[in-house]
Amino acid sequence: TTQLSERINSMQTSQTLAMAAKARELRAEGKDIIGLSLGEPDFNTPDFVKDAAKQAIDDNYNGYTPVDGYVELKDAVITKFKRDNTLTYNRNQIVVSTGAKQSLANVAMVLLDKGDEVILPCPYWVSYAEIVKLGEGVPVEVATSIETDFKMTAEQLRAAITPKTKMIWFSSPCNPSGMLYSKEELRALADVLVDYPNIIVVSDEIYEHINFVGEHFSMAQFEDMYDRTVVVNGVSKAFAMTGWRIGYIGAPEYIARACNKMQGQITSGANCIAQRAVITALEAPVSNIQFMIDEFKKRRQLILGLLNNIEGFETTEPQGAFYVFPNVSSFFGETLRGHKIENATDFSMFLLEEALVATVTGDAFGNPDCIRISYAASQDQIKEALQRIKDVVS
Ligand code: PLP
Repeated sequence: TTQLSERINSMQTSQTLAMAAKARELRAEGKDIIGLSLGEPDFNTPDFVKDAAKQAIDDNYNGYTPVDGYVELKDAVITKFKRDNTLTYNRNQIVVSTGAKQSLANVAMVLLDKGDEVILPCPYWVSYAEIVKLGEGVPVEVATSIETDFKMTAEQLRAAITPKTKMIWFSSPCNPSGMLYSKEELRALADVLVDYPNIIVVSDEIYEHINFVGEHFSMAQFEDMYDRTVVVNGVSKAFAMTGWRIGYIGAPEYIARACNKMQGQITSGANCIAQRAVITALEAPVSNIQFMIDEFKKRRQLILGLLNNIEGFETTEPQGAFYVFPNVSSFFGETLRGHKIENATDFSMFLLEEALVATVTGDAFGNPDCIRISYAASQDQIKEALQRIKDVVS
């Protein structure tokens, strides 16, 4: 390891992936683990999308694609932004990437200089802080609590801004809390930013369609924020296409051009077959995927009901995505079945070892009091998992 760079040595392993690996290991030992740790829909990719991919293979889509994506895909993205978000972009403002994760990495690479600060309202998606650090930026965590539904307030934002603040990154619906910023809440944040015209907002909207309250609003929809907001989206969650690896941004043109340049030296265009399939996915009416959202909503009710039935878990009602993020700090200081529980990481490990249920510690998301439980699992699995959890904590 002495030959490895400072960059990789200081990077943390993705804790969601680490938990999944640990669960696989225990499964290989013959243990019956229920996995509620991954951020991955348990549905199959819809048939109409799979058919488009098969057709693309037969039509010999096999060469390098334009770095920023096929024109037809960029046009489908433009149409989607217009249809779903009333956002207008031209082709030079769209960059298709190998997943929203790469979109975020591009943005970090092209906007950050050493020491630039990026405000991350906690809890935030695991990779944000590490991607920012990779761009030599400094993550600035803003702690939020269950009292404000895990959302950053205007006052908190103002207090976190320094002369070095370059960006704010957040997801809405939020992974892991499931909370949604309303138009009014976003306006309150935007009103602070009016005083700081150089700060750029990265609005990660990958869970846009997995919304149970029906009022998705994007920061870019405010006229005065459009020119300084990068909207990140993708098909992984809404279309159950995590492994296909397609994400995209709608951004101010100079940022999109820079991302295109960056990507051109690192990965080039995203996979050609996946891109063709995504054209079909994005052009389809959202009603085609409504069945998944309806099912997630049922599971949300199920898991909330079961969790609220176990003493010690404090919950909020998530408005989107497919996670619950209960506060479990009431267990800290206790010894359960011989395990001393000092923090959320201990608790999550305890659940894995004793209940054989995989969750993720809130520490991974910048919140040490909570754990994230994914309900992208069948209702039977959810029931069984929550029964096991109840048994081991009671
Ligand atoms: N942003 C958030 C908030 C996510 O939860 C995820 C996936 O877990 C991503 C981005 C990455 O998505 P993709 O599969 O498109 O890289």
